[in-house]
Amino acid sequence: MKASEATQLYFENAADKVDLDDRMRKLLLAAKREVQVQVAVELDNGEIETLVGYRVQHDNSRGPMKGGLRFHPDVDLDEVRSLAALMTWKCAVVNLPYGGAKGGICVDPKKLSHKELERVTRKFVDQIHDIFGPHTDIPAPDMGTNHEIMSWIRNQWEKYHGFNPACVTGKPAEHYGAEGREEATGRGVGILAFKLLGRLGRKPKDTRVAIQGFGNVGMHAAKFLHEADFKVVAISDVSGAYYRPEGIDVAKALHYSLNHGRSLTGFEEAERISNTELIGLNVEMLIPAALGGVITMDNVNQIRANIILEGANGPIHPDADRILNERGVTILPDIVANAGGVTVSYFEWVQNLQHYKWGLNRVRQELDHVLTQAFDQVWQEANDRQVSLRTAAYVIAIRRVHRATVLAGI
Ligand code: GLU
Repeated sequence: MKASEATQLYFENAADKVDLDDRMRKLLLAAKREVQVQVAVELDNGEIETLVGYRVQHDNSRGPMKGGLRFHPDVDLDEVRSLAALMTWKCAVVNLPYGGAKGGICVDPKKLSHKELERVTRKFVDQIHDIFGPHTDIPAPDMGTNHEIMSWIRNQWEKYHGFNPACVTGKPAEHYGAEGREEATGRGVGILAFKLLGRLGRKPKDTRVAIQGFGNVGMHAAKFLHEADFKVVAISDVSGAYYRPEGIDVAKALHYSLNHGRSLTGFEEAERISNTELIGLNVEMLIPAALGGVITMDNVNQIRANIILEGANGPIHPDADRILNERGVTILPDIVANAGGVTVSYFEWVQNLQHYKWGLNRVRQELDHVLTQAFDQVWQEANDRQVSLRTAAYVIAIRRVHRATVLAGI
């Protein structure tokens, strides 16, 4: 099953619950615009590399479109299409005044020099600058991109259109970025884990957590959960997984990773296991916070956690999702669980438009407020309809996007 088919299936399941007719389904599912561009750059050795870049703008009925840019070798049109739609539902369920978009380049950024990365980024902006901007579509970081890249994007876009830092979010905090944007997705996962436990009548100290991925999302989620008294027993990155049943000293792991080029290779404070073993660990909570499509029919029966928070976008295959639901596993879906990032992106955009800067405490408080409200609504909807949290989240999102579409008229 393709990534976009999986997102569509989750949409259809919820659309059935609200009796959305076929014509409206077709309208809400189709992307407004899909752009594919050539990104040709000169490498440091003088050779020419030709890459392919994408921007899919899914829906703008609730506001300008919003979503990250991914630099990864697996990026293709179908993946970007699926991620763009996820952004529409994510912004709607959290009630941000945005539609959804996503973009990316099929490239392994680790294989580029710093200068090559900058040239690729600027060249990509040259190709798509006229289809994004503060009031149309606002890019942000995603897998393989960071605040420095967002700064280059802003600088390149402004060469065409003039000063307007709101044209992209996730910029460096000292240069028109929001305080707390970098930690926001992981922190949001942590905040929501806390809320979810409260509803389930459980305590953090009795909750063992395994986190797959120690990038921006996994790292900050681990930090928040550790500080909130959860027992983080396993973490992982591309080098493998690290398990300590008594709990990992997350501060030590963070320090280690940051001092070893963002890698846990050689981390000796925990037992080295495989990423496959991490998925099947005897824990209460599992947080996939790396790639999509990691929980499938092949490994769903190994899962012992009864709570899953989707830190990554699309980590659970729909067939596996069905089985987990039948087994009574509580899953907080990506469109809620990892919405902290785009929420603080929204704060950044608002601050840029107002030429005013908030402090970190204000950002954190407002993030907590937005996520708590969204979580409570999703929980309520799931209880009222007796459906999964995923279906409830999609129901709320579809209702909002549908209403905006109808109000605006075709
Ligand atoms: N890439 C992030 C996501 O998938 C953040 C998007 C944004 O900040 O606009 O939600």
